[in-house]
Amino acid sequence: MISDSENIDGRPTWAEIDLDALASNFNQVKTSVGADVQVMGVVKANAYGHGAVECAHRLRDAGARWFGVAMPEEGVQLRSAGINDSILCLAGFWQGQAQSCVKHALVPVVYRLDMIEALDQAAKDAGVVADVHLKVDTGMGRLGVRLDALTEFVDRLEPFENIRVDGLMTHFAAADDNSCEPLTDKQIRRFQSASQTLLEHGLKPSHYHLANSAAIYSQPGARGNMVRPGGVLYGLWRDVLAPDMDGAAFKPVMSLRTRITLLKWVRSGETIGYGCTFEASRESLIATLPIGYDDGYMRGLSNRARVIVRGLYAPVVGRISMDLTLVDVTNVPGVSMDDEVTLFGVAGQQRVPVEDLAKIVGTLSYEITCRVGERVPRIYQSEGNGKT
Ligand SMILES: *Cc1c(COP(=O)(O)O)cnc(C)c1O
Repeated sequence: MISDSENIDGRPTWAEIDLDALASNFNQVKTSVGADVQVMGVVKANAYGHGAVECAHRLRDAGARWFGVAMPEEGVQLRSAGINDSILCLAGFWQGQAQSCVKHALVPVVYRLDMIEALDQAAKDAGVVADVHLKVDTGMGRLGVRLDALTEFVDRLEPFENIRVDGLMTHFAAADDNSCEPLTDKQIRRFQSASQTLLEHGLKPSHYHLANSAAIYSQPGARGNMVRPGGVLYGLWRDVLAPDMDGAAFKPVMSLRTRITLLKWVRSGETIGYGCTFEASRESLIATLPIGYDDGYMRGLSNRARVIVRGLYAPVVGRISMDLTLVDVTNVPGVSMDDEVTLFGVAGQQRVPVEDLAKIVGTLSYEITCRVGERVPRIYQSEGNGKT
């Protein structure tokens, strides 16, 4: 899908993915953690909406040799796209997927004995040894073997000859929240104790990992020998890192854009959009944008967000509808039909951080990029190879 303008055939609404920014963010993390710590590229959920295959390839070029997905289906997608590096399935696998894990050499996170049983059988059938990463629940209360059940769990691993524990991991509940520091400290101590338990059973995995984006920066002493950033790779940090952390070096990767479809003057006193939620207080020039909440531009942003047109900010007016959004461009000199509009991300010197929109609607930036609709094409941009 190559074109000189971003104008793809059909509706001019697209998400521009800056792969150079992605690589730069990855390098930023690599520099922070140093050469002894591997950086896994977490690309689950279609790389937080950015496109898993394209992002994984670019992260690989930048040096990533581990990729994190949620489930085996996502790992198979990467394999089909030619990613031959290690892939960790962070949420484990489901009944019936053990063979698939073995066949595609996906490394599942495990936390139940029946998972080990199924995988051992599949590996035996295939004549291979399957790697797993054992997850210990140190305080998140979600996936993982509780520390008090770990000894028994590890005792019972012995008969499974076709399983190799290649990694030990845990996940922080609140590494972004300084007020939860006691819990985070406790999680680190419990992880150390879990490592000890494994050692006592003669298990010394190659990989020890705990840290998500927030923990990489708030807990530099708890990086193990691998870290698992997602958010910061995509330039999301304002609502991800602890408040005292500066992530200004991370560059936004996704910019959501469209073009003006209609311009019209409305008179003072007229209302626009569903529910008459906006009344023009002056004669106003209103632009219609072909993007709405089905595209991921959330309805909760109605009358509250702003967009960038010709280097200026213009407010969203009235309700955002399923396919259309209105903005007041009265103060944008020279504004014209087909002008490019940026709903979030970067446009020249201006930016609308996704995190700001997330704050308006009371969610996390991740949820916004994840939910950019399927009908919005991702256009990949890179200095080296232009727009693809
Ligand atoms: C999603 C996920 C990560 C990445 O978290 P970020 O906050 O995006 O850095 C790391 N580890 C696990 C287990 C995850 O599920």
